[in-house]
Amino acid sequence: MPDRLRGLGVSPGIGVGPVRAIAGAVPEPPAGQRHQGDAAAESGRARDALETVAADLEERGEKAGGEARDVLFAQAMMARDPGLAELAGQKIAEGTPAARAVHEAFGVFRDVLSGAGDHIAARVADLDDVRDRAVAVLLGVPMPGVPDSPEPFVLVARDLAPADTALLDPAKVVAFVTEEGGPTSHTAILARSMGVPAVVGCAGCTSLADGTVLLVDGASGEVRPDPAEEEVARARTGATARTAARTVTGPGTTGDGHAVPLLANIGGPQDVPAAIEHGAEGVGLFRTEFLFLDRTTAPGEDEQEAAYRAVLQAFPYVVVRTLDAGADKPLAFLPATADEPNPALGVRGLRMSRRHPEVLRTQLRALARAARALPVELRVMAPMVADAEEAAYFAEECRAAGLAHAGVMIEIPAAALRARDLAAAADFFSIGTNDLAQYAFAADRQVGTLSGAQDPWQPALLDLVALTAEGADGKACGVCGEAAGDPALACVLVGLGVTSLSMSPPALPAVRAAIRAHTTDQCRRAAVAARAAHGAAEARERARAELPGLAALGL
Ligand code: PEP
Ligand code: MG
Repeated sequence: MPDRLRGLGVSPGIGVGPVRAIAGAVPEPPAGQRHQGDAAAESGRARDALETVAADLEERGEKAGGEARDVLFAQAMMARDPGLAELAGQKIAEGTPAARAVHEAFGVFRDVLSGAGDHIAARVADLDDVRDRAVAVLLGVPMPGVPDSPEPFVLVARDLAPADTALLDPAKVVAFVTEEGGPTSHTAILARSMGVPAVVGCAGCTSLADGTVLLVDGASGEVRPDPAEEEVARARTGATARTAARTVTGPGTTGDGHAVPLLANIGGPQDVPAAIEHGAEGVGLFRTEFLFLDRTTAPGEDEQEAAYRAVLQAFPYVVVRTLDAGADKPLAFLPATADEPNPALGVRGLRMSRRHPEVLRTQLRALARAARALPVELRVMAPMVADAEEAAYFAEECRAAGLAHAGVMIEIPAAALRARDLAAAADFFSIGTNDLAQYAFAADRQVGTLSGAQDPWQPALLDLVALTAEGADGKACGVCGEAAGDPALACVLVGLGVTSLSMSPPALPAVRAAIRAHTTDQCRRAAVAARAAHGAAEARERARAELPGLAALGL
């Protein structure tokens, strides 16, 4: 067993607990074999397995509640589909063993679903999951997915799908460690929003035996198997000291009184309490597509209005992003164009909305209705805007729906380069550094091995932020990508002219303390120093040299 492993710390904090690995893929039962027993008994085994899976899914659904319950109950219904058992029974009657027969029967259903144009939809993934569960029961191998554990554990996986993490009990998971995933992957974003320490891109972690105790440092990225007790105590003391140094409260401001509103990134009303607890002054990014990841039909205006109102009534200021469908955030009711070779460069974000104007208009109307009579400043922005024409289109749609503040996300280098043109059409900017880095470096944000190119300290990315802030021409220009949650980088962003910072709620206290500990001038000098560097590591080092308050805070 290695002495220590290293990955990228993406959600700070210390977690100690035994490894529970997400079970690997369920093997495909081999074709061409015949069962020995009688067909009726074999058919009975298949039916029992499907029923076991259905009952287990329902039990998990009851425990999870909310949207996850609906998804799991829908999966249980798939397992109980009489057509499926009948098809498997026919194959068993022809001599196919139960596991293979079930596998093939699911294959037929899968083809039907794919043919209906739902091929990237959550439905197919859900169906595959049910199949794997049933086959696992029949083969007597572990069920796929997040393990059940009576005690708190460190979840180790190759990577985590949003569906896995949605069902996690934050009280049970003391840390995440994944072999893949970068700093802007949704695993990282979810870990931060749950306040669970996480290390991604940690080579070799999936070889650790289940039950091995790990000390996980979500800030440094170090993962220590079988740590000595003193080591655990030391790590915990360090983490507590860092937390204690960040008890600054109140609105975001630099040491010399320059206001920088500190806002929360949220995925729905369920994230509101954490945002309030960490002192968010409002919401800087409401990722509305997160509300509808599991939906196969477009949500209606009334349903949307209720979900938006639950957020709008909690804050004086909320920036809502219209649906960002496609690539890493597929929505079943807005499917990607068939056979798009590279969905990240395909029809997504605002491009997708333009193909489905009725979906966009319903959302805008729901937002306008939700804000009516509430004392909230509602701002609405579009994702993945490439140029001024797209910005103008979106602004016009917003005005038609009665929305006064229409902005755009700057996540495409072309938009950053021509920010001045976009500023003429939009009321405000919000820079999405996650995608801006992905597109600036041509490096997929979901590929852990490319995480170096995702480092938001890259001077080229800082240049694009600076150009955007300049081009905003006095209009508000926030950052809502993960870069805003790094205390040192937050100071640099302020120095580059960014006017607000929005992040996962648990990142707020450290950022608040960091900017309060420095003057605007210090932030500017740190920005100049970072941009003068020739790489991310050097930029970080040079900026830190201009920000002495960080070390004093243990940041
Ligand atoms: C971004 O791209 O930086 C961003 C904030 O949006 P998302 O992470 O949801 O793509
Ligand atoms: Mg984005």
